Amino acid sequence: MKPDFLQTPIEYVKGVGPQRGEMLRKELGIHTFLHLLTYYPYRYVDRTKFFNINEISADLPFIQLRGTIIKTEVLGEKRAKRFVAYLKDATGIIELVWFQGIKWLEGKFTGATEYIVFGRPNEFHGKFSIPHPEVDVASEENIRLQSALQAMYNSSESMKNRGLDSKGIFKLQQNLNVLIHTNIPEILSEKVIRDHRLISREEALKQIHFPQSPALLKQAETRLKFDELFFLQLKILRQKSYHKAVTSGFVFSKVGNFFNDFYKQYLPFELTNAQKRVIKEIRVDVATGKQMNRLVQGDVGSGKTIVALMSMLIAIDNGFQACLMAPTEILASQHFEGLSQLVKPLGIKMEFLTGSVKGKTRARLLQELADGDIQILVGTHALIENPVIFKNLGFVVIDEQHRFGVEQRSKLHRKNSIPPHVLVMTATPIPRTLAMTLYGDLDTSVIDELPPGRKPIQTRHMTDNQRLRMLGFIREQIALGRQVYVVYPLIKESEKIDLKNLEEGFESLEREFPLPEYRISIVHGKQKNDRKDFEMQRFVKGETQIMVATTVIEVGVNVPNASIMVIENAERFGLSQLHQLRGRVGRGAEQSYCVLMTSFKLSRESKIRMETMCRTNDGFEISEVDLKLRGPGDIEGTQQSGILDLRIADLAKDQQLLQIARNAAQEIVDTDANLERPENLPMKNFISMKAFSKTDWSKVA
Ligand code: ADP
Ligand code: MG
Repeated sequence: MKPDFLQTPIEYVKGVGPQRGEMLRKELGIHTFLHLLTYYPYRYVDRTKFFNINEISADLPFIQLRGTIIKTEVLGEKRAKRFVAYLKDATGIIELVWFQGIKWLEGKFTGATEYIVFGRPNEFHGKFSIPHPEVDVASEENIRLQSALQAMYNSSESMKNRGLDSKGIFKLQQNLNVLIHTNIPEILSEKVIRDHRLISREEALKQIHFPQSPALLKQAETRLKFDELFFLQLKILRQKSYHKAVTSGFVFSKVGNFFNDFYKQYLPFELTNAQKRVIKEIRVDVATGKQMNRLVQGDVGSGKTIVALMSMLIAIDNGFQACLMAPTEILASQHFEGLSQLVKPLGIKMEFLTGSVKGKTRARLLQELADGDIQILVGTHALIENPVIFKNLGFVVIDEQHRFGVEQRSKLHRKNSIPPHVLVMTATPIPRTLAMTLYGDLDTSVIDELPPGRKPIQTRHMTDNQRLRMLGFIREQIALGRQVYVVYPLIKESEKIDLKNLEEGFESLEREFPLPEYRISIVHGKQKNDRKDFEMQRFVKGETQIMVATTVIEVGVNVPNASIMVIENAERFGLSQLHQLRGRVGRGAEQSYCVLMTSFKLSRESKIRMETMCRTNDGFEISEVDLKLRGPGDIEGTQQSGILDLRIADLAKDQQLLQIARNAAQEIVDTDANLERPENLPMKNFISMKAFSKTDWSKVA
């Protein structure tokens, strides 16, 4: 085994000179043999099959034909000038058309020769032709060489101009392939390979470019995907295990009066079984002497807040301070209001601190925190951005986490010699595969049960021409004493237009729902905070029936009497945002409704989003669709996760394999986290090569 083989510069492949080498480096990041080998095909064309000309239909992508050329001619003038060859087989005749290279083509074809033709048919006025096909003489050798699943590679316009189109890259792969003689080191232990019945890496890297059969291709894909997922998980799980080993945490040894009194006397409802289970998981965690890093996943309305509160009570029972952070001021202040009510009878000192708390009040709060008088602090995420000094902070809740990753958690760790326990609560359910990776270093709890008596929200999709019906419906509901949200998109790039939409919408609603019978609140991000609060509070208190808003109300806001959510320009929202918004209703006892307003014409993707919303209320299901539609790259938080380094595995499609790979990685971490055993040497070597990822997780610990 020559470990350097894969690091050989790309110029050593036949057919790559200095110019193409430069191009491969610049355009595709291919510097070495390894890079070329892991430049995987994006699809395969089945060239084992020959079609008859009379079988051609519009839904065939690439096809292969065999026949003779009975006539050629040059047609048209100037730009329309083209070379046409008529290919005939036993079933019919089809035109092959070229707009370039005409001189060269003239006289190239002879009548007696049989040709293999490969290309993508075009339909024009019911007639098929094949533009710019590949044509080869149907010699025995050509037929043998080409009768296979043929790999297709992505390339760029400028590469195509240098002959590095899909076929050109395929040729390079062929040239590299002949150099491979058992110089591709194995990177998994024999046990892992055996346990999961994987083919060798070398075999996989050959089959992926030159599959000998669909079955072997499948095995090659599985093996290479496994490699990517396994090493990503191994990295995350080793990090987690290292973290657990080196960081000690506060021991919350008891559950005391605050918790017990609250549970027995003041809890306003019976906890769901899921809530009980999660609280128990947390209780166990915080007693171990290790720092807790736990993610609570739960759909909107599943009751995460009470879980957070009861966990904080355990901290206080053990003489520590706790803090809860939310992403926006509005949300933080709602939490503060709600939690204050709940803990009032316990005599707990709870305070509110955000960036907008200034002057004397701020100074006083900071002093009380440092003295340990304040037991629970509620605020925005800014609390860890601009550190505030606690006397003995033992427990941190991060609510509705959106953009809150590894970085920020590590900040908490650095601030204290013993870091507080951390409970992260997700804003939106995320697919399991993503959770395992984005939050793979956390332990997870899932609240998979809604409080009893909730009526599922009914969702309708309406187009603008049904607006009158929608308004009539709002009127009915208000007459029943309910409240209504009307939400407009506000997206940075088109902020001005959006704001105008919102204001116009507000004005037209004012005309439809005039004073004094109706009152309308308006909230958007451009308002001053006290204005915003004032408008919010009016709605919360039921003084206004309609709340017109941008997505500032997206997360957390809780007004149980609001039972209709109208989302304007719903096609401009992503699925998770739509689900979040919808979650603002359905919090009370009444039947709630969500109306998605869109224009009549919709893209295919928007249609799927609307259908999904109408079909299900299940946030996890919605998040899966979202992942499939958008791909992991567009989902928040993935940038630093290593997911985007995946070349062949796909988190949307390879969920099962991810679970398997994660289990395999966990087994390694449990038995030999430092990869010291001889049988795990291949993995150790591979990791030290650092060939597969740019992400630096060393900051986390
Ligand atoms: P989320 O998980 O979206 O943060 P919340 O914690 O805001 O949800 O809870 C949503 C609503 O459900 C709140 O009004 C809360 O008081 C209520 N709630 C929570 N748990 C229960 C329960 N076990 N039984 C009844 N109502 C509950
Ligand atoms: Mg919440």
